[in-house]
Amino acid sequence: HAKAQGRNGIAFYKQGMSDAVSRQLKLEVALRKAIEERQFRLYYQAQVNIDNGRVSGAEVLIRWNHPELGIIAPDEFISVLESSALISIVGQWVFETACYQLAQWVAEGIWKDDYHLCINISPRQFRDADFTAGIERVVKKTGVPAHCLEMEITENIVIYDLDKAIEIMRDLHDLGIRFSIDDFGTGYSSLRYIKRLPVNVLKIDRTFIQDMCTEKDDASIVDTIIAMARHMGLDVVAEGVETKDQLELLKSLGCPNYQGYYFSPPGTADEFKQLLLAA
Ligand code: C2E
Ligand code: MG
Ligand code: MG
Ligand code: MG
Repeated sequence: HAKAQGRNGIAFYKQGMSDAVSRQLKLEVALRKAIEERQFRLYYQAQVNIDNGRVSGAEVLIRWNHPELGIIAPDEFISVLESSALISIVGQWVFETACYQLAQWVAEGIWKDDYHLCINISPRQFRDADFTAGIERVVKKTGVPAHCLEMEITENIVIYDLDKAIEIMRDLHDLGIRFSIDDFGTGYSSLRYIKRLPVNVLKIDRTFIQDMCTEKDDASIVDTIIAMARHMGLDVVAEGVETKDQLELLKSLGCPNYQGYYFSPPGTADEFKQLLLAA
């Protein structure tokens, strides 16, 4: 019955429907199938301590392994998951799968206690009534050290209920989970809001890193973010470091950590494990 209605719905829309909407709907159908058929994969990208050049953790990045199209990057589908509420299902899967992987690396003795595994959390996941409970359940079930977990949120979290977001973050903080602000410097929020969030880390958006060696303004912004973080007692990760020059400049500005193709691109769990073994 539901299916027939869906068909009618699509037929009804078809006449006036823009290509973008039609594409969105097709993608949504394909994503529902991807969830059922377990087509998602997790990639891991190393984070590196700038002082000693060693791995300090990893960011978990989702990929869609499409049966015909191959590996699809998240920018192609995360927004569709977000607008269709499927993000809650997929987000929970990401968190659980990442925790099982972490538990395995801990058991193998290759995950050090001060490493962080960083998981992107969509603002919409925060609005799920059972978000915190779901996270707590997975942490208990997998037995991972919660202090090794870091949730990456964006400044846009404040467009929903700020007080509610703070409350949820506090609860997760109490479990030991850390928070970072992803793509820092590109959102719509003011520092006044950011200040209220219980955050441990700022991730400098890669657009600032990209041009910092040639554009004085970008270098100033990066410099300012690093200094501000230091004064506020926050850790910093520079995103998207691709060249030696960028790394050297970041080092001279006192940036403590970085992530980027220069050290290594995101890879499979096995590929990242090789980096852990070499660390
Ligand atoms: P993000 O969280 O800012 O992740 C960093 C992005 O920069 C990743 O893109 C990564 O592959 C890319 N990157 C890393 N180093 C470099 C570099 O040196 N140069 C350049 N040009 N890019 C670099 P990716 O994997 O395509 O992910 C894109 C975005 O999708 C992420 O941006 C994040 O916002 C979102 N995303 C990824 N996985 C998840 C997830 O599991 N859940 C949610 N909610 N969002 C996710
Ligand atoms: Mg991120
Ligand atoms: Mg980012
Ligand atoms: Mg991003």
